[in-house]
Amino acid sequence: NGSADRVTTSFRDHPGVLEAGRRFGRFDEWLQQMGLPNPYYLPHEGVSGAVTRMADRDVVNFSSFGYLDLAASPRVHQAAKDAIDRYGTSAAAVRIVAGELPIYGELERELATIYDTDAAIVTASGYLTNAAAIGFLLGKRDLAICDSLIHNSMVAGTEWARCKRVNFRHNDPESLEAILKMSRRSFDRALVLIEGVYSMDGDVVRLPEIIEVARKYNCSIMIDEAHSFGVLGEKGLGVRELFDLPGDAVDVWMGTLSKAIGSVGGYLAGNRELVDGFKYVAGGLSMYTASPAPSAIAAALESLAVLRDEPERVTALRDNATYFHRRARESGFHTGTSEGTPITPIITGADEPAVLGAVAMLQRDFSVNAISHPTVPAGEARLRFFINCRHTREQLDQALVTLREVLDGLADTAGQQSTLFQ
Ligand code: PMP
Repeated sequence: NGSADRVTTSFRDHPGVLEAGRRFGRFDEWLQQMGLPNPYYLPHEGVSGAVTRMADRDVVNFSSFGYLDLAASPRVHQAAKDAIDRYGTSAAAVRIVAGELPIYGELERELATIYDTDAAIVTASGYLTNAAAIGFLLGKRDLAICDSLIHNSMVAGTEWARCKRVNFRHNDPESLEAILKMSRRSFDRALVLIEGVYSMDGDVVRLPEIIEVARKYNCSIMIDEAHSFGVLGEKGLGVRELFDLPGDAVDVWMGTLSKAIGSVGGYLAGNRELVDGFKYVAGGLSMYTASPAPSAIAAALESLAVLRDEPERVTALRDNATYFHRRARESGFHTGTSEGTPITPIITGADEPAVLGAVAMLQRDFSVNAISHPTVPAGEARLRFFINCRHTREQLDQALVTLREVLDGLADTAGQQSTLFQ
C-alpha cells in the first residue's frame, strides 16, 4: 500500500535533512579538496573573551558576543557560585507552579527599572523569547512588519503566530511608511519588529523616526536589544538611553542575557498587563518551561551591578569599536552599513574568501566568523568581527594587517561566483 511505502523511520528523506546533506556535503567535499579542517563547532577551552584558548593556543577572539567581558568577571563568577550553594543547579520546576526563586523577581525588577516599564519577565533563552512572545501577541488576522534584516528568532515568532508578514527596507522609515499606507489597515493589529544594533551589519536602528511612523499608523513596536544592551548609551543601557526615550516609547523591549550580560536567558519588558499575559498565558516564556538555572540568574544580576559600577567597560568597548571600524575603512575594507558599533562586518562578496579567510585567520591565531548565504543575502558573505572592551589596540591593528595579507593571498578566488552554499 502506497502510504505504508512512504513511512520512514530514518528522516533521511526529510526536506531539511536532504538540504543539509546537499549543502554541507558539497562544503565538506570542498574542504577536503582544499586540505582544510571543518571550521565549525571548534571547541574553545576556557572563557571566550578578547583572547580564547583553542587547541592549546591563545587566539585573539573576534567571535565572542561577550562585548563587556562580564563572563570572565570574578564578581560574576562568585555570584553564580553562591547561587549554586544556596539554590542548587536547577529551579526544578516551572516557575508558576513550584519553581519561583527570589532572584528571578529581583532580576525582573531590575530590568523593569532599567527600561522604565511597569514590569519585566526573564525567560530561558533569547531565541525562544522572540518566538514565543511574537507567537503570543499576533494571530492570523494580524500583521508583522519586519525590518528586512531581523533575526531568525523574530521570523520564527511570526511563523509561530501564523500572522501576515511583510518586510520594509532595512532601517528605512520611509519604506515602513509606504507599506503602512498601502496596507490600508487590512489587519486587526500591527507590530513593527526591529533590532537595536543589527547582528549581521552592525548598524544602529533609526528608532525615533521609526517610532514616529509606527505611531502615526497606530502600530505597536517590539525591539530586540540582543546586540544593543550593554553596548549603546553612556552607561550601556541600550537604545532607550542612546535616544533618551521614555519606557513606553516602545511596547515590547526584548533582550538576551547571553551577550553583553555574561549569562544565558532572555527577557521582555513592558506594561503590567502585557507582562502578565507573558507570565500567565503565553507558552514558552515562563509557562510550560523551566527558567534559567539560578546560577545564570545570579550571574546576570551581578553583571548588571558590574555594568553600573564599572562604566569604563562601556567606554573602552565604544573606543575599541570606533577605532577598529575606522582602521578597517582606512585599510580599504568594505564594511557595509556598519557604523562603529562592536559589530563590524568585512564584506567579501563571494562565500569562498569569507570561509577560506576565517580558516586562514585561525591558522594565524585570530578567531573570526565567516557568515554566508542564507544567513546573509547571496553575494554578501562576510567576516564578522565582534569587538571586546578588553581588546588591545595592537590586537585590533594586527587583526586587520593579517586579514589584508590573508585576503590578498586569496585574491584569485575573491571575484569568483560563489557556489559553496547555494
Ligand atoms: N536576537 C538576536 C538579534 C540575536 O543575535 C540572537 C542570538 N544570536 C538572539 C536574538 C537569540 O539570543 P540567544 O542566543 O540568547 O538565544
